[in-house]
Amino acid sequence: MKIAVCVSHVPDTETKVKVGSDGKTIDPAGVNYVLNPYDEFGVEEALKIREKDGGEVVAISLGGDANKETLRKALAMGADKAVLLKGDGERDSYAVAKSIAEYLKSYEPDLILVGKQSIDYDNLQVGGLIAEFLDLPSVSVVVKLEIAGGKITAEREIEGAHEHVEVTLPCVVAAQRGLNEPRYPSLKGIMQAKKKPIEVLDAAPVESRVKVLAMKKPPKKQPGKIVGEGTDAVPELVRLLREEAKVI
Ligand SMILES: Cc1cc2nc3c(=O)[nH]c(=O)nc-3n(C[C@H](O)[C@H](O)[C@H](O)COP(=O)(O)OP(=O)(O)OC[C@H]3O[C@@H](n4cnc5c(N)ncnc54)[C@H](O)[C@@H]3O)c2cc1C
Repeated sequence: MKIAVCVSHVPDTETKVKVGSDGKTIDPAGVNYVLNPYDEFGVEEALKIREKDGGEVVAISLGGDANKETLRKALAMGADKAVLLKGDGERDSYAVAKSIAEYLKSYEPDLILVGKQSIDYDNLQVGGLIAEFLDLPSVSVVVKLEIAGGKITAEREIEGAHEHVEVTLPCVVAAQRGLNEPRYPSLKGIMQAKKKPIEVLDAAPVESRVKVLAMKKPPKKQPGKIVGEGTDAVPELVRLLREEAKVI
């Protein structure tokens, strides 16, 4: 089984985002970047399938040299190979997905795992776009996955229920939290990952369709106002809700 896992290199959830000098992207200075949490479920699922059915797991990331850190994390978890599709600069989800799909055309995986979303830009698009470019089916928000006889049966988390679906391989599966418990890389895994080569290829040049005009921090929340205590405060509260907040 040839399994490709897409991994994005994202600021960790503790990051206090600062807008960069270009006014359009995150200022990377002092930011701790990590393997996108939803992609950890993807890597873990790929490793479990390989342990059960055999095969090869390849981790793929598109971006700059910094993405090697994230690829090494996937190798340390147990991925067999890692590929950096080198591509700096402006790339929207369309361009990221198309460049990855171009690479996957030559690799011809049986299964492509992506995370439900990349926690930096939260477009939730790349998985579906890769499937479209490869003319493959895709299943998103997957919390359970079984493979048998060239088909997958998957449980998708939907509002108030789980949808059980069946798809013929090859296909794209987007991992949701709860699909599995990602393993922590062992010390041995981390050491071996340091020595494993990362194949670096130029990402296929694709023009972005979505142009980022600006990145702005949300306006600072106005501090709350204490208008008094008990029922005595009601008239002033009503006046403020009517005259200032204009909600009544
Ligand atoms: C320097 C820079 C410039 C940018 N310029 C633009 C721009 O001009 N226009 C614009 O719209 N956006 C731009 N972006 C945002 C960029 O498009 C997103 O970072 C990228 O598409 C991934 O985020 P997403 O929300 O689309 O992914 P999602 O669709 O939320 O990701 C879903 C899954 O796809 C996979 N995936 C996503 N990104 C990658 C990746 N890079 N490598 C491997 N797998 C991946 C992962 O498995 C992820 O879990 C820029 C980002 C950077 C860092």
